[in-house]
Amino acid sequence: MSTRRDFLFGSASFLAAACLAARPRFVLADDAPPLTLPPLPYGEEALAPHISARTISIHYGKHHKAYVDNVNNLVKGTELAKLELKDLIKAAGGKKETAALFNNAAQVFNHTFYWNSMKASGGGKPTGKIAEALDAAFGSYDKFVTEFSEAAKTQFGSGWAWLVTDGAKLSILKTANADTPLVHDLKPLLTIDVWEHAYYLDYQNRRPDYIKAWIENLINWDFANKNLGA
Ligand code: FE
Repeated sequence: MSTRRDFLFGSASFLAAACLAARPRFVLADDAPPLTLPPLPYGEEALAPHISARTISIHYGKHHKAYVDNVNNLVKGTELAKLELKDLIKAAGGKKETAALFNNAAQVFNHTFYWNSMKASGGGKPTGKIAEALDAAFGSYDKFVTEFSEAAKTQFGSGWAWLVTDGAKLSILKTANADTPLVHDLKPLLTIDVWEHAYYLDYQNRRPDYIKAWIENLINWDFANKNLGA
């Protein structure tokens, strides 16, 4: 499939190509496609009754979409516009002047990862490589559940709990606000969003009930296995 850039640099557009060649850095930034909201991997009603369609509709259609729109507005016309999302997060991380960009870009990644960390009729004990890795790291599936639940419950305020690997061993990490394992040299395998917007309509203040339902009914272990093997 030919792209806009192929066309511009094709023989039919020699003049345009010559002009662009004189200032390719600007052209690439301007020409970079905007970040798009990735499609949900299931229908908005798929995770009910554990997470309602209304929660997903607002969480995905309003919150996640706003992060995507914010990133596009913040990078518009700059060199950062041509970076892939993960590179953008790393480039913006740890700097006061790009804190807003980091927060929004990391939230785009974290939310896409969260949607994929769940599926209808998921949860329970895993099989495959991840099952062995959990036993090796935590001693048993039950001990993993205890540790993961504790991390998700005790993340003070907004944030995330993650199952991650450093390449050798699995561990559990909790992050505040938009913070993400990508900037801690850790590979995420699964995540649960514990911002109130993720559960308040369905569970109000009962975050532990949301976490329990999530672990027992929604975890997408196929996704975790895929990430572990990737
Ligand atoms: Fe969220």
